[in-house]
Amino acid sequence: MNEIRAHKRTDAALQKARDVAEAANKAKSRYVVGISHELRSPLNAILGYAQLLERDPSIPERRRDGLRTIRRSGEHLAALIEGLLDISKIEAGRIELYRDEIRLPEFLDAIVDMMRFQAEAKGLAFVFDPPERVPPVVHADERRLRQILINLLSNAIKFTPRGSVSFRLRFRSEVAEFEVTDTGIGIPEADLPRIFEPFQRGGNARLPATPGAGLGLTITKALTEIMGGEITAASTPGSGSRFRVRLLLSGKVPAQQTAPERHITGQTRRGRPAEVLVADDDPDHRALVADLLEPLGFTVRQAADAPEALRIAREAAPDLFLLDIAMPGMTGWELARRLREEAGQSAPIVIVSANVPEVGATGEGLHHDDVLAKPVSLPALLDKIGRLLGIAWTFADAPPAPLLGGRLNLAPAQAAELRQLAVIGYVGGIRDRLDALEREDPGARDAVAALRSLIAEYRLDDFLAALSGASEAADDPGTGPGSPHDR
Ligand code: ADP
Repeated sequence: MNEIRAHKRTDAALQKARDVAEAANKAKSRYVVGISHELRSPLNAILGYAQLLERDPSIPERRRDGLRTIRRSGEHLAALIEGLLDISKIEAGRIELYRDEIRLPEFLDAIVDMMRFQAEAKGLAFVFDPPERVPPVVHADERRLRQILINLLSNAIKFTPRGSVSFRLRFRSEVAEFEVTDTGIGIPEADLPRIFEPFQRGGNARLPATPGAGLGLTITKALTEIMGGEITAASTPGSGSRFRVRLLLSGKVPAQQTAPERHITGQTRRGRPAEVLVADDDPDHRALVADLLEPLGFTVRQAADAPEALRIAREAAPDLFLLDIAMPGMTGWELARRLREEAGQSAPIVIVSANVPEVGATGEGLHHDDVLAKPVSLPALLDKIGRLLGIAWTFADAPPAPLLGGRLNLAPAQAAELRQLAVIGYVGGIRDRLDALEREDPGARDAVAALRSLIAEYRLDDFLAALSGASEAADDPGTGPGSPHDR
């Protein structure tokens, strides 16, 4: 009997210890979610204004790189915050995947730009080796794929004191193989089997100045496997490491021809200007939306909370609502319902939230027409507004073309051919044509070199823009209907 009683006491003590641990874990998850939200709000303002300034034609060219760096770094920070949230989700065993249409060339471009900057800041060479043909659009969860690649590239940079980091992509039919190779300190053989386990940091990570929590590779492996892929690592201590991710990325040829993003300068809407009501308790977010939309001919009304939004809606009957979810007093969901049911509003409602992945999962909000993620991407916002209100946009005459040194006289047929090759992402074909151009016209050498360096970095958008700048025959986009990123 004594034995049994002792066991019961032990069981009770264990049970209590487990409850305490679970409560602590839940508290930690709440803390992570809370702090992520706090970090995101100021970040939204930084990202939003960086995007706006990047588009401002009065900003001198030499400042643009700085702005781009601010934006890219902000995006990186946003991704890190997402990572924090992911850890709590992976721990809770729930993670959802999305099937996004990824514009692969732009997607890679953004990652390469950001990582190149980090590598070069540390004095490392960064080599990007894209395949000759890239499907312009593939289907996968964009955010997760970005996270996997950034994790691997950041590690490579982090654990490489000198030399280089290379990023290579190859396709075998629809299987993409991403490879990140570095010339860094490498991973001791004994550590290699453990690096994907949580909180395992190799002996090499005990060196000073290698911050990290030992979660990056755990998340990377979990995400790769959830996406149906596999990840492998190989390393030689002292000379470097190689990580390889294989993933099925089914491609799709877009129906529309791609063209560089065009800058929207206004809208062609007859009658009075469209009125947009933005309800958000964050004044920076409201101001950002106003700063974006007012120059394009919208009237923007701002509400700091739901009651104010309802009052304005009754008075002014706006043409479109942009509602934040998390507002004190009443959520955006509830506000959407009241706008529809009590204030008699039928104008489109867009829910703008930092937690869009959760939006679908809640099943909430039968009253909205669309959702938009914070940090707000300006083209995405304009795209939705354009579609919901049936607005046709007017565009700047031509996208700003990178300056080409030297002269380049392209015949209309040559320009069209190069453009066509860039549109399908056939880099090898472009290289051949550029070689031929240079042979035919040695005076064009500098200009061809500039184009080649754009292609080497896979900056197809800039390449297309440079082509339009170089060829008299390039057709002028002028004004016309379409979505802001008609590509
Ligand atoms: P963290 O980088 O935060 O320590 P990770 O999970 O990303 O955590 O990596 C786990 C460990 O794997 C690192 O601590 C490091 O020892 C090792 N590691 C990962 N990538 C590399 C690399 N490219 N070169 C050398 N060691 C690496």
